[in-house]
Amino acid sequence: MIEYDKIYINGEWVTPSGEGTSHLINPATEEVFATVPMSFPEDVDKAAKAAREAFIPWSQTPAVERKAYIDAICAKLKERKDEMASLISQEMGIPVHFALGIQVLGPISGLKIFGNLAETMDEVKEHEEGYITVKEAIGVCSFITPWNFPLFQVIAKVGPALAAGCTCILKPSEQTPLSTYIFAQVCDEVGLPPGVFNLLPGKGSMIGDELSSHPEIDLVSFTGSTEVGVDVAKSAANTVKRVCQELGGKSAFIIAEDAPIEKATKYVVKDSMFNSGQMCVQLSRIFVHESQYEEALAVAKKVSERLVVGDPTSTDTFLGPLSSMKARASVTKMIDDALANGARLVTGGSELPEGIDKGAFVRPTILGDVTNDMPIARNEVFGPVLCFIPYKDEAEAIRLANDSDFGLSSGVWAESKETQMRIARQLRAGQVKVNGPAFSFAAPFGGYKMSGNGREWGASGLIEYTEEKAILTGA
Ligand code: NAD
Repeated sequence: MIEYDKIYINGEWVTPSGEGTSHLINPATEEVFATVPMSFPEDVDKAAKAAREAFIPWSQTPAVERKAYIDAICAKLKERKDEMASLISQEMGIPVHFALGIQVLGPISGLKIFGNLAETMDEVKEHEEGYITVKEAIGVCSFITPWNFPLFQVIAKVGPALAAGCTCILKPSEQTPLSTYIFAQVCDEVGLPPGVFNLLPGKGSMIGDELSSHPEIDLVSFTGSTEVGVDVAKSAANTVKRVCQELGGKSAFIIAEDAPIEKATKYVVKDSMFNSGQMCVQLSRIFVHESQYEEALAVAKKVSERLVVGDPTSTDTFLGPLSSMKARASVTKMIDDALANGARLVTGGSELPEGIDKGAFVRPTILGDVTNDMPIARNEVFGPVLCFIPYKDEAEAIRLANDSDFGLSSGVWAESKETQMRIARQLRAGQVKVNGPAFSFAAPFGGYKMSGNGREWGASGLIEYTEEKAILTGA
């Protein structure tokens, strides 16, 4: 059993201001394997004051020194990569072999990029019109992160904040705080000045409002559901904080009429079943020309049925359990409701996968005969469930793809460059993946519409944490 009883404020491991514990349950075994303390509003106040105190000296630390701290954090995190991959797998179910790459090493490479960008903070731009502009750190930042990519989402926020010269207060998801404990230990070991990074594990319902409304906090960055993201923005409004929101999605993938249907379908099924489909960027609405529709469903069925569901510690496993039994209940209800609404079950369904009798496992599920107005095509499922929707022509595919409250990711598979770009330019989403690229830790990432505001990762991610100052000089 892993047991923590302290939180990290002002460079020290301290006892929280109240009593309360989160019990972490491994969704594969349904057993408690760790306990972590809760934080309280008084702890937010202490952390905010410490972060305020630390802000001016940290923001004035030469960029090259901030880069050196970030590089040292990357090196120490790498040393503990296997431990973090295993913890994340136990917390939320992803197979360990996938966790190592996408949940641990990938984000560390993204953190390295932020370290390299720190020096861009020193740039002074002289403008022909006779003034100069500089970038400065925005100040004290609070972060509220979800469970589906525990370290990844933390680095997307803490990385650019540290590079810019901001100070940080992090509240990770109560389901997945363990890798953030390692992150805090590493910050401590590399000697990050007290108050620059503070860790407050616990529940959003207990400290979320304080993290969004505290007057000493200048920016709140939230990743999670659209519903909670709206509450965070409302709480932040009275103190006119900058609010960054990375919210839900219902992303579309268009297979163009000229695309190799087998290759495109195989790609989208594997990509979208990754992390058991628990991805804000999941390409969950797949638009296929009516002439290729049945063929696409047959390929999707074959590919899905070959994906191994089961033990997250096995390297053969593609899908571990969902993050919790509650998540399983929600996803299986959505599958059953979709079938009741007229969707066709091509493969999968709400029963436990064959040979499994406990845990939050869900069969990879392919639904045919879905129309874009069904709830299953409009609401985020957050599970291994894909909707296939036929279209008559390209204009209809684009119209249906854009007919969504969300606009986070999207994808297209097409043979000709012209078709790829024509479709990509018309999709109303923050990213378009053309013909199956890997995730980029340098490219801007963020949503249109109700998927959020602002951008994370790379140079655009750094800008979120800066203010632009104009210096105008008289005679
Ligand atoms: P969630 O909204 O339930 O929780 C996210 C975080 O908010 C957690 O830390 C939680 O403790 C906290 N929280 C809960 N209530 C709060 C409140 N009243 N005030 C402040 N904070 C509160 O989301 P989740 O279930 O952890 O994650 C899944 C959601 O996250 C999905 O909708 C998914 O699309 C979204 N997501 C978005 C992105 C993105 O980059 N756009 C990335 C990953 C996940």
